[in-house]
Amino acid sequence: MVETHKVESINELNKKLPELEHRNFRDDDFWKSIPAWSQVTREEFGDHLWQQKNSIRKIDQVKKVLGDLATPELMADMEDGQRKTPMNIRITPYIFSLIDWKNAWDDPLRKQFLPLGSQFLPEHPQHMSDSLSEDEDSPVSMLTHRYPDKVLFLPTTLCPVYCSYCTRSRIIGGSTESVDKSSYGANQKKWDEVFDYLRKSPLVEDVVISGGDSFMLTAAQLKYIGESLLKIPHIRRIRYATKGIAIFPMKITSDNAWFEALKDVHKYGLSLGKQVVVHTHFSCPKEITHWSQLAMEKLFRAGIIVRNQAVLQHGVNNDVSDMVLLTRQVGYLNIQPYYVYMHDMVPGCEHFRTTLREGIELEKAVRGTTAGFHTPTFVCDLPGGGGKRHVASYEYYDEENGISVWKAPYVKPGEVFTYVDPIHRLSPEAQKRWQDPETAKKMIADAIAKAKD
Ligand code: SF4
Repeated sequence: MVETHKVESINELNKKLPELEHRNFRDDDFWKSIPAWSQVTREEFGDHLWQQKNSIRKIDQVKKVLGDLATPELMADMEDGQRKTPMNIRITPYIFSLIDWKNAWDDPLRKQFLPLGSQFLPEHPQHMSDSLSEDEDSPVSMLTHRYPDKVLFLPTTLCPVYCSYCTRSRIIGGSTESVDKSSYGANQKKWDEVFDYLRKSPLVEDVVISGGDSFMLTAAQLKYIGESLLKIPHIRRIRYATKGIAIFPMKITSDNAWFEALKDVHKYGLSLGKQVVVHTHFSCPKEITHWSQLAMEKLFRAGIIVRNQAVLQHGVNNDVSDMVLLTRQVGYLNIQPYYVYMHDMVPGCEHFRTTLREGIELEKAVRGTTAGFHTPTFVCDLPGGGGKRHVASYEYYDEENGISVWKAPYVKPGEVFTYVDPIHRLSPEAQKRWQDPETAKKMIADAIAKAKD
């Protein structure tokens, strides 16, 4: 008689072994815990039109859908947040219902999309609304041309969600109580001016199509932009940037016209021997569910490469185990972990920023936990337009006062750049020194002089 062994399914095995935690993807009806959506079926929830229609745009809607889960204290704090934040509210039901509303103060998703007044800290005196000097390096509207062979194209300033930590808060998502913005939607005439500029710029090989978010382009617009760029002979690579896979995977799984347009551009690129890839933006493991898995399976089977860029945020992903889990999870989904950025020095974000030292230590902890090509590079995008540099490649770091000095020999030869740590993370003595503008100026000058030595 042949003995039969019970073979555990891979899913059962994954649940038992903590080191395989990254293979477990949430697949329950989590949205049903939100009172207004308790009767919403899986089919409805998976429909991109339902997600768009039910996206939260106002505090009143938060109250309405949460019912008794919305405590008066939380709502008052959120209203206060709206008076202070540079970003409007927009959040998909998918992300909204992944928030743990019983512990909303600490929830990493709530922190990213629904700011509370109580969390804001005074701005660092060195903060800048255009921290990366994108406007300064813009030869034509909607385009930043800093690196010789690469450009950043911003065809729209609209997104399916608005992130509190957005580096382009100066233009994204419309004016708020605290900031006037010149946000814009799709405008083909303006795009044609960008394509004209690129035709006359033979060194450019690489175009990042960002914004804003490519999910906000219609299928026809996505195709028009992609094909127009690929037709330019010297352009070899285009990358559509979208946070969408992380916060709105239903667009990939159910908006067939949009997905087919992306596939068509990808195929057209292949026919010309050119790359068409997607860059996305998962920040923390809580954003990743079975819906992300379904979206990524579809993209992967279509042969579309996806890379991830995360922003390091205090209370969201600055914990070693969260960062390792995020790296492994996105890797498992066939997304290449590409960058983790130090938070830019933009307004309304002091509570999110970490010290450079923290970025360096996280990079050390993450490296070696998985294959090297699936390990993100931790970078600091230099304020003032020096471009991205590895976190440990500073010239000098005054940790006591939180000032690091950098060079970007190829991008801006001869120039130096400074990145500063958040003041509340420094010693009381250092915090006091920053309060005096003359002392602060001298500290920065001293750090630069030491870097030059
Ligand atoms: S999706 Fe990107 S561009 Fe849009 S608000 Fe978030 S960080 Fe900013």
